[in-house]
Amino acid sequence: MKFDIAVIGAGPAGSFAAFLLSKLGYSVALVESMPEMKRKICGEYLSPGGVEYLIRELGEEIILKNFSKLDGMLIFAPSGLEVDCQFPTISGRINFGLKVPRDVFDQFLINQAKNSGVEVFMGEEVKDLSFENKNHRLFFNKRELETSFLVGADGRKSLVCKKFNLNSKHKKKFIAFHGLFKSSGKKRNKGEMHILEKGDYIGINPISDEFDNVSLITSNHRLKQFKTYETLLEYYLNKNKYLKEKFSKESNFEMFISYPIYHEVHSISFNQGVLVGDAAGFYGPLTGEGITAALTSAQFLAQVITQNQSLKKNDLINMNSVGMNYEYLMRSFLTKKKWTTTFFHYLIGHSFYCNLLGQIFK
Ligand SMILES: Cc1cc2nc3c(=O)[nH]c(=O)nc-3n(C[C@H](O)[C@H](O)[C@H](O)COP(=O)(O)OP(=O)(O)OC[C@H]3O[C@@H](n4cnc5c(N)ncnc54)[C@H](O)[C@@H]3O)c2cc1C
Repeated sequence: MKFDIAVIGAGPAGSFAAFLLSKLGYSVALVESMPEMKRKICGEYLSPGGVEYLIRELGEEIILKNFSKLDGMLIFAPSGLEVDCQFPTISGRINFGLKVPRDVFDQFLINQAKNSGVEVFMGEEVKDLSFENKNHRLFFNKRELETSFLVGADGRKSLVCKKFNLNSKHKKKFIAFHGLFKSSGKKRNKGEMHILEKGDYIGINPISDEFDNVSLITSNHRLKQFKTYETLLEYYLNKNKYLKEKFSKESNFEMFISYPIYHEVHSISFNQGVLVGDAAGFYGPLTGEGITAALTSAQFLAQVITQNQSLKKNDLINMNSVGMNYEYLMRSFLTKKKWTTTFFHYLIGHSFYCNLLGQIFK
C-alpha cells in the first residue's frame, strides 16, 4: 500500500493533520495502535484557541452538539484565596472552552478525518520504520505501508523521534497522577486550578454531571520525599479544607500515573517528514493548552504544505523545504510555549508571589 502522506497516531494532532491534508487533495493514511479510542491521561479541557480551530473547520453547530462549554477557571492560591477567571470576550474571538472526554473527542476527530477521505487503520501499531529510495516504510505486525511523507503524531513517547534520533536530553522530571472522581453533583462550567507547594498543583475539570477529572502534578523529587502519591495527596487534603471536603467521600478511585510528562526534541523535521503535537514538544500540562498546541501544529503543517508550490499532488518529493518552513514556524511557537510554561512554573514554585497575586486579582 502506498500513500502520499502517512500519519502515525490518531490523537488530536494526527487526526486534525490527516483531515486538513486530505482536504488539500493528498492520499492520507492515519494509523493508530489502539483498536478504539480510550480516555487518556488528560484534564479533558480544550482552551478557546483550540475551539476556534474546530469551529473554523467544522462549524459551531456540530461542535456544540457534541461537547459542552467551559466558561473559565477558578484559580486557588496556596493560601486558599480564590480568583474567578472568565475567558475574555474579544470581538471576533471565541470566549469559551470545551469539556472534551478524550475517548469521545479523539474518535470525533478520527470520524472527521474519515469523512474527508483519510484511510484510517485502527489497532495497528507501527513497530518499526525505515527510509529507503526516498520513501518511508512503516512496519506493522502483519503488513507494511509505504509513503512519500511521514507525519509523526505519536505523542510524548514517539517512536518516530526515537528512530530518527530527535529526542533531546533534559532534566525536567514531572509526574502526573490522574483519575476520575465522583462529582459533587452541582452543575459547574469552570475548571479549577489549585496551586499547592513547591510547584505542585491539582487541576480539576467538571467533565460531566457524574465525574470530575482530577490531575495532581508533582516532581520526582517531591514524590521521593513523600514516598507514595497517597501520602502526598493526604498531606494536601489535610491542609486544604475545600479539597478535603471535595474528595473525602472518594476513597474508591483509580489513579493512573503518567511519566514523563515533559518531552523535548532538537529537531521537528527530518527526511521527508515532520513531527506534530506532543511528539514535537510538550512542556507539561500547566497552561492547559496541549490539545490546542496539537491542533495548532496540524494547522501550521497544512499552511506550509499549501504554500509550498513543489508539493502539488504527484510531485511530493521536494519535502525538505516543507520541513524547513514548518520547523521555523513551530520553533518560534514552541519557544514561546516553553518560556511561558517555565515562567508559570517558577511562579507557582513560590507561594509568596502566588498569594500576593491572588490578593491583587481576587
Ligand atoms: C496530566 C495531564 C493533563 C493534561 N490536561 C490537558 C488539558 O486539560 N487540556 C489540554 O489541552 N491538554 C492537556 N494535556 C496535554 C494533552 O493531553 C496532550 O497535549 C494531547 O493529547 C496531545 O495530542 P497528540 O495528538 O499530540 O498526542 P496523543 O493524544 O498522545 O496521541 C498520540 C497517539 O499516537 C498513538 N501511537 C503512539 N505510538 C504509536 C505507534 N507506534 N503506532 C501507532 N499509533 C501510535 C497513541 O495511541 C495515541 O493515540 C494534559 C497532559 C497531561 C499529562
